[in-house]
Amino acid sequence: MPTVTSLATLFAERPCWARGVPAEADASASPAIEGEVYDVVIVGAGITGLTAAFHATRRGLRVAVLEAGEPGAGASGRNSGFVIPTLSRVGPEDVARAWGAARAARFNAQLSNAANALFEFIHLERIDCDAQQNGWLQPDQFEAGAAVWQNRLRSLRESGAKARLVGPDEFKALTGSARYPAALCLMEGGQIDPLAFTRGLAAAFVRLGGTLVNGCRLLVPARPQTHQLVRLETPYGTVFARRAIVATNANGHDGAKNLTAATLPFALLLAAYDLPPDGADHVLCGNQPFSDVGRDMWFFRRLQGNRLVTGIFPTSTWLTREGINAELTQRIERVFDVTPARLTDLWAGRVGVTPRGLPQLLQLAPNVFGWTGCNGRGIALSFVMGQWLAELAADAPVESVPMPLQPLKPAGAPRVGVWVARRLIAAERRRRTQRDRCAGHPARGEATTPAD
Ligand SMILES: Cc1cc2nc3c(=O)[nH]c(=O)nc-3n(C[C@H](O)[C@H](O)[C@H](O)COP(=O)(O)OP(=O)(O)OC[C@H]3O[C@@H](n4cnc5c(N)ncnc54)[C@H](O)[C@@H]3O)c2cc1C
Repeated sequence: MPTVTSLATLFAERPCWARGVPAEADASASPAIEGEVYDVVIVGAGITGLTAAFHATRRGLRVAVLEAGEPGAGASGRNSGFVIPTLSRVGPEDVARAWGAARAARFNAQLSNAANALFEFIHLERIDCDAQQNGWLQPDQFEAGAAVWQNRLRSLRESGAKARLVGPDEFKALTGSARYPAALCLMEGGQIDPLAFTRGLAAAFVRLGGTLVNGCRLLVPARPQTHQLVRLETPYGTVFARRAIVATNANGHDGAKNLTAATLPFALLLAAYDLPPDGADHVLCGNQPFSDVGRDMWFFRRLQGNRLVTGIFPTSTWLTREGINAELTQRIERVFDVTPARLTDLWAGRVGVTPRGLPQLLQLAPNVFGWTGCNGRGIALSFVMGQWLAELAADAPVESVPMPLQPLKPAGAPRVGVWVARRLIAAERRRRTQRDRCAGHPARGEATTPAD
């Protein structure tokens, strides 16, 4: 009998990256932060908060990071580790339409370079996070046509990305999959162990002399105080800062709930599989992760030790492990012609989705900044957002950051938005199943026609 489980349970499951990793030793069991005045206080120790902390400290500022759990407790330690230097739902031309050509050109150029900058940082700081900059692939399940591919390619190249087209033979040689007729390759993309990377960022910040306080929640929204200071309430007392950065993404709670409320908090399930000991060498042999262009996106990456990570957007709040396993096993079979040996890890994370697909740089209160809206693709983006937030915290003019600074607006009717998005994903899933059936791949559990 399948066991029904809720998404809430899967949000509490540890990701595969945490296997064998001890909980962060907390050097600050009872931190002496009460009444302290910092140049910058950052709330949230994910990629954004820690990158901002690192850069602000390097500028000579006195910085503290307050983290409710431990570094990587949010999306940064629970994602699939694809390093992709583009936005997910919108292209460079959409950014230009929304923010104007000049600003968009600077934004797109810096984002295009973000994967390079991130891999270089890993190298310079000697972060051991299984980093591989072999490129990231985005195949299309349809014969989109040469003109469509050339347009996608031109727009990416114009924005500064190093991109090229990959035909079916090369795609098969790189990934072991014959399913896709063509793909785009972002040559500077790649993959990392995201939890190890986030912990490495935390260590780099602490090495610079920064203060990281684990297990320390912001209790009420940071608010301006007299003498230009921002007041931050924590269980360890009140802390003051000249500037505060709220880097809690769609995972903000307590005093950072408002940031979560600015997006549709969309769930994404990830799963790690053992591959069979024989017959799986071809699977993602080039160590390039890929995500296809579907709304019901299929995505895969190889892990060390004959393993693979994939995932799926859940279309309901209640699900069964057996059902998820059956769906993902079927995808692996269809894409790689291999049946995985065992589902080893299943966990969920929260993605901050904005209605227009654009990230938002936010002024939450005077001298309090934040951002939200990674729309599911935020490793490279968080790495640049962190640097821009550090600039704002160091009093750089707002115009130096290539994004408009806007006030926080709660997302309208988030439940309705999530419901609609789930229905659209479910419809596409049904269409793909239908197409596969027509192509002679019955769904799992369906009667198969014995071969003649
Ligand atoms: C399942 C999943 C898969 C993904 N896959 C990819 C991928 O392959 N590639 C990619 O580019 N992007 C991916 N993303 C997106 C990416 O993970 C995020 O954009 C990125 O990690 C955001 O980092 P962050 O530092 O802004 O936020 P987070 O990492 O979410 O950090 C926020 C931190 O704030 C802390 N916090 C919350 N409230 C408080 C409070 N009141 N007081 C103190 N601390 C608080 C949390 O504990 C958390 O540690 C994925 C996301 C998910 C959920």
